[in-house]
Amino acid sequence: MNFAAARRNMVERQVIARGVTDPQVIAAMLEVPRHLFIEEALRAQAYGDAPLPIGQRQTISQPYMVASMTEALCLRRHDQVLEIGTGSGYQSAILAKIVRRVLTIERIPELARQARRVLDATGCGNVQIRVGDGTLGWPEEAPFDAIIVTAGAPTIPDEYRRQLAIGGRLVIPVGDRSSQMLLRVVRTGEANYREESLLGCRFVPLIGEHGWGNEGNGL
Ligand code: SAM
Repeated sequence: MNFAAARRNMVERQVIARGVTDPQVIAAMLEVPRHLFIEEALRAQAYGDAPLPIGQRQTISQPYMVASMTEALCLRRHDQVLEIGTGSGYQSAILAKIVRRVLTIERIPELARQARRVLDATGCGNVQIRVGDGTLGWPEEAPFDAIIVTAGAPTIPDEYRRQLAIGGRLVIPVGDRSSQMLLRVVRTGEANYREESLLGCRFVPLIGEHGWGNEGNGL
């Protein structure tokens, strides 16, 4: 299979044709080999228009969702970004190609270990991974220019608002356990935030102290 051609096709049909225009997002999606973030048996589907299983009952997000969430963060090269839900590491790699430093938190150690391996193999040394409860954020490293949450939350944890720099952007799916609305929150001042709804989405639940309980997940 010609992965580079499949990737170009993915970017043209699923990303650009659906309205993503940020050149740095398009360049990163063209560069990062998505098939390496997926187990070998599923690689032929790596550039399809869908999320895929990555083990531990978790998923790598649909390419279009990765592109639109990244675009919604309005990133600049010198930014420091916090991601919650490392999963396969693919979204972290996209961020790493655009910004100076990415910090990412994953609650499942096996996923964090596998993501570290692939991120190292794909030249993403500017990504730091922590295993733990991402609903607490990463207070020692705050403030963040952008925070991206790649699991669905019941409400917006206050920690994220507090850990945003002034001018910082938070993108987070909020709703019930199976479907959510993608929200963007911009910190416009010390105690001022502007919030807008972007699009409907379906993410696995954000599980933790300020998220959902882990009933039914067995993990
Ligand atoms: N960004 C990922 C990627 O590119 O593959 C997709 C992430 S997947 C949709 C959601 C991830 O969030 C899962 O790996 C899950 O274990 C993780 N997660 C859920 N709750 C979490 C929490 N409180 N802290 C950190 N990770 C969490």
